[in-house]
Amino acid sequence: MQSLMQGKRGLVMGVANDHSIAWGIAKALAAHGAELAFTYQGEALGKRVKPLAETLGAKHVLPCDVEDIDSVDATFAALKDAWGKMDFLVHAIGFSDKNELKGRYADTTRANFSRTMVISCFSFTEVTKRAAELMPDGGSVVTLTFGGSTRVMPNYNVMGVAKAALEASVRYLAADYGRDGIRVNAISAGPVRTLAGAGIGDSRAMFAFQQKHSPLGRGVTLDELGGTALYLLSELSGGVTGETHFVDAGYNIISMPHPDALRA
Ligand code: NAD
Repeated sequence: MQSLMQGKRGLVMGVANDHSIAWGIAKALAAHGAELAFTYQGEALGKRVKPLAETLGAKHVLPCDVEDIDSVDATFAALKDAWGKMDFLVHAIGFSDKNELKGRYADTTRANFSRTMVISCFSFTEVTKRAAELMPDGGSVVTLTFGGSTRVMPNYNVMGVAKAALEASVRYLAADYGRDGIRVNAISAGPVRTLAGAGIGDSRAMFAFQQKHSPLGRGVTLDELGGTALYLLSELSGGVTGETHFVDAGYNIISMPHPDALRA
């Protein structure tokens, strides 16, 4: 098992702290032999991310704000200089103004709609394109999405619309890059208590509801999300591309809560 990612190099974007989904993924990849580089958004987060990345032996820990295309280009130029080529990419980046992650979707402003789409959706296309240029031997790319993309989740609002577009991007990018041997997939994670997760209005109630009513009767762990990313980024999933893979304790299959759960 140790050899699953041996000799493979890749970039993990989206670690803010050790509660981040990207951190759970990074640990799983490193445990299976991958060499990792990381990006962080701004120096304040850099102070947290750099020591974490060091624990996994990362030599390249780079600032990157996806709103600033120059910093995206600088990140991939640095990786090209350091590595020449790469094998995988993790995109675990999302943002929307938390004032619009409550109330009605209809009240979303044009400015926040655009910003949310650029950071949470289009950045995936931009980084996949740049990573693909460094994948002459093929590769695998993963992003993170949420079930609020296809079903209405109170307060998720514009993020749900951005995640729907992100999932469509996964399919289009999978078609664009398939003949280059580059696979593109999304993990649709159940609720996890992270900085981004806490920004959603009434997030505690939403987390508790999903945990109570999912078939497994619980939430999901960073280790479980890491294990799924390991599968999608390794040869174990060699024939899989363009998929949105749920890791949500089965919540997405439920039509209505079990009557026993409603009575409890
Ligand atoms: P997190 O707060 O730990 O990570 C979000 C990351 O996005 C942070 O590292 C932040 O720095 C980064 N980011 C935001 N704006 C950026 C920008 N302009 N440039 C570069 N980076 C930027 O939270 P998380 O929950 O681990 O989020 C990771 C991904 O997982 C997000 O796409 C999120 O929507 C998705 N997701 C989260 C949950 C959940 O319940 N937490 C569920 C499903 C999907």
